[in-house]
Amino acid sequence: MPQGLWFDPELCLIGGSWCAPVGGRTLALINPSDGSVLCNIARGEAADIDAAVGAAQNALQGDWGRMSALERGRILTRMGQLVLERVDDLALLEAQDVGKPLTQARADAVALARYLEFYGGAADKVHGQTIPYLEGYTVYTLREPHGVTGHIVPWNYPMQIIGRSVGAALAMGNAAVLKPAEEACLTALAFAHIAQDAGLPDGALNVVPGIGAEAGAALTAHPGVQHVSFTGSVATGALVQQAAGRNVVPVTLELGGKSPQLVFDDADLDAALPFLVNAGIQNAGQTCSASSRILVQRDVYDNIRHRMSEAYGALTVGPALSDLRVGPVISQRQKDIIQGFLGKGADLEVAAQGVLGDEAVNTGAYVLPTLFAGVPADHPLARDEIFGPVQVIIPFDTEEDAIRIANSTDYGLVASIWTGNGARQMRLAKAIRSGQVFINNYGAGGGVELPFGGVGKSGHGREKGFEALYGFSQLKTVAAYHG
Ligand code: NDP
Repeated sequence: MPQGLWFDPELCLIGGSWCAPVGGRTLALINPSDGSVLCNIARGEAADIDAAVGAAQNALQGDWGRMSALERGRILTRMGQLVLERVDDLALLEAQDVGKPLTQARADAVALARYLEFYGGAADKVHGQTIPYLEGYTVYTLREPHGVTGHIVPWNYPMQIIGRSVGAALAMGNAAVLKPAEEACLTALAFAHIAQDAGLPDGALNVVPGIGAEAGAALTAHPGVQHVSFTGSVATGALVQQAAGRNVVPVTLELGGKSPQLVFDDADLDAALPFLVNAGIQNAGQTCSASSRILVQRDVYDNIRHRMSEAYGALTVGPALSDLRVGPVISQRQKDIIQGFLGKGADLEVAAQGVLGDEAVNTGAYVLPTLFAGVPADHPLARDEIFGPVQVIIPFDTEEDAIRIANSTDYGLVASIWTGNGARQMRLAKAIRSGQVFINNYGAGGGVELPFGGVGKSGHGREKGFEALYGFSQLKTVAAYHG
């Protein structure tokens, strides 16, 4: 059993009751730090999803559906407070489940609390409008929940992704059905227990762990679901969109990226350096907004290459509970995917690699952080999402080159521009095809308040901030004729 587990992990939450999945089947949850079985989890299937959707529909007809926005906000705020009280417990579960170093897992738990606080406070601040219309009319708009929302969450940031999607959906009065990733679902279950403790009415949140092709596919195709939010791969995102499309329901897709940082020769390199490296190796590079491409102007190329190499040389990889900078990746399967990419880089210059710590056993899913230098912009390692601790440095000469290279992948999630030239900052912020652009920083500390989402194959729809609340609601126009 995982250290610190305080609930039965083999159950689903449906309509306020913790129950075994209909088929009675379970899945083994693997600790990526050493390959051991942590525990079994429920393997929910279509019948469980059907029951969860039914429970969510009942909640919308009952107390939850009638609750004021103020009261919903208070419950979310309470959930945030309870998460803060259990930050260390949540971090311990996440570290064992995902392989995330404890400090990073703790930061995710704090971020989950912050989402709940933000959406708790915002729940009663999303207004409709009045619209001037023809003489004799009063016209106004109402923001209403979609109804039942389906949430497919991946393994890389379970707490943050639950916070930003389930938090926003509940704030707007939807009833949620959550399918966590089969490889990481302990904090999803913990979150559901915390929600109950905070007084969330039965059925407002339902959690059915299971396999994507079974429980996940059943959720996205269910005719009782009115909105689907998905974070994960492009291939699965396309399947999710197809399934939801058959029911003609909106979908939010967050599908990762190949996010660049552009370093010009007038940049504050000391300020840039920690962001250049950290944005690539955080969570062992398994981050949708990881910065896997470092574009460097020729005059400062050697300097950056040298300093990034030094930083890589100081990276030690080890078990999550040792709390080093880099833990294992999520699974042996993910390790194989990343090693496959490293094989494609055989023709490239490896500028530096991290080292394996003494505690990293060979049954763990460890990958050495690897920095490639002098990489051509059209090389597969410079174009494809690797989802591992791998970065490429790409030299450029002019601003035009930098823009062309930055925009040369299928993705567009996050970008950052390091330059002291204000006019260039403004020009590039417009020219770069990306959902978010940062100037002289990267990621802005998580940015719960900042709308987030992609263009191109990074997906569509916006999460975080108030945009998420608009996404988890629909607008009704009321036109009253009174003469
Ligand atoms: P997937 O996209 O397959 O999985 C993400 C989520 O979707 C999981 O909860 C998964 O369930 C679920 N899922 C899988 N198939 C279906 C389906 N047919 N219908 C509905 N839901 C489904 O990613 P993987 O975990 O397989 O990782 C593969 C690659 O995806 C990574 O290497 C990375 O490139 C990318 N990825 C991107 C993420 C991001 O943040 N943008 C996050 C995770 C992965 P289950 O896991 O239980 O099978």
